[in-house]
Amino acid sequence: MKKITILGSTGSIGTQALDVVRNLPNELSVEVLAANSNVELFAKQIKEFRPKLAVLADETAYKKLSKKKFRGTEIAGGRQAFIDAAAFGNSEIVLTAMSGFAGLEPTIKAIKARKNIALANKETLVVAGDLITKYAELCGVKILPVDSEHGAFFQCLQGEDMRKINKLLLTASGGPFRGKTRDELKNVTVKEVLAHPTWNMGKKITVDSATLVNKGLEIIEAKFLYGVDYDQIQVVVHPQSIVHSMVEFCDGSIIAQLAAPDMRLPIQYALTYPRRLPSPVKLLNFWELNSLTFEKPDTETFRGLNYAYAAGTVGGTLPCTFNAANEVAVNAFLQGRIKFLNIYDVIEETVIRSDAFAPTLENLLEADRAARALAEKYIELAY
Ligand code: NDP
Ligand code: MG
Repeated sequence: MKKITILGSTGSIGTQALDVVRNLPNELSVEVLAANSNVELFAKQIKEFRPKLAVLADETAYKKLSKKKFRGTEIAGGRQAFIDAAAFGNSEIVLTAMSGFAGLEPTIKAIKARKNIALANKETLVVAGDLITKYAELCGVKILPVDSEHGAFFQCLQGEDMRKINKLLLTASGGPFRGKTRDELKNVTVKEVLAHPTWNMGKKITVDSATLVNKGLEIIEAKFLYGVDYDQIQVVVHPQSIVHSMVEFCDGSIIAQLAAPDMRLPIQYALTYPRRLPSPVKLLNFWELNSLTFEKPDTETFRGLNYAYAAGTVGGTLPCTFNAANEVAVNAFLQGRIKFLNIYDVIEETVIRSDAFAPTLENLLEADRAARALAEKYIELAY
């Protein structure tokens, strides 16, 4: 029985991870659950999975939770308790399913406690790829990708020599606005942005998918996971989301991973690796698949990819700045303070005005703080 910790258990990835556990009761057991503020769902999860420790990062939510009675589960609350939960007990693997920069410190804490990481929180690797990969190597910890594309690379690379990779072909659905012009995107609403054609995800990543910033974050994530150069990562738009990504090798062979679009598959593979076990994912029927199509991304309209390549190539703290500016811009868009296309302007203005420093933890925390302040200031003045 493998003991696991889920940070962000009430979210899209967290709830699907618990579904994976439900389907494999003799393989996986939940040692720790942690979330932010969704008291009702979290209380149900504690009752069903009976973890040793359950933590809510939000203090007010924790107060509400602590009024309920749970047998055999220690309850804790607050930001520090959430970070400490990452290192708690005998769990072998920590699934990082919280969203955004808030994932950085708990991930470092888990690595230092020598727990393997099932990494959904891609922002952590974007912000601190150098640091995280260095710590993981020093502590002998595995970083197992949950993001569907990186999970696909991981499967394609089993038993392969990493030096024989020509390039990583990173697939993208293209989001809800594929084929639209900048003019058509000027006045899109939050509701239109949140209607993703193939994946049902949390709000932040759904907005990122519409801007293609998500694919930008994934370029940086892939670079750190697989140690390739940026010019070895090519984004290919594939609207059906059946091919989850591909690897081209030096002999011209391309290995792809295909499956129905269902996050439970990469979550399960990361949690049970190196074992491959049955899953509830719908099987593909090649007699019924009409067509699989591929196209070049429109980087003039969807500028998210260009920023990622630029920030990633400069390196240091700049990917952290890029990520922080995007988090602020996405929040502002969801709150109706800026329009969809302004997300790009906020990122551009913030990144242009920021310098890159060596990516130490101290510099990263400062780069994140400074970028958020710059981005907020720009939004206040410009809109
Ligand atoms: P959701 O918004 O659905 O869930 C986020 C989870 O994190 C919730 O449990 C939430 O708690 C918790 N949380 C939010 N903020 C904090 C905080 N400050 N401190 C502690 N916990 C917090 O997000 P997703 O599940 O969609 O995404 C999670 C991560 O996985 C992201 O990094 C995303 O990029 C990545 N990912 C997601 C995919 C998907 O299909 N959804 C695919 C690939 C990657 P609560 O609800 O209790 O407030
Ligand atoms: Mg992805």
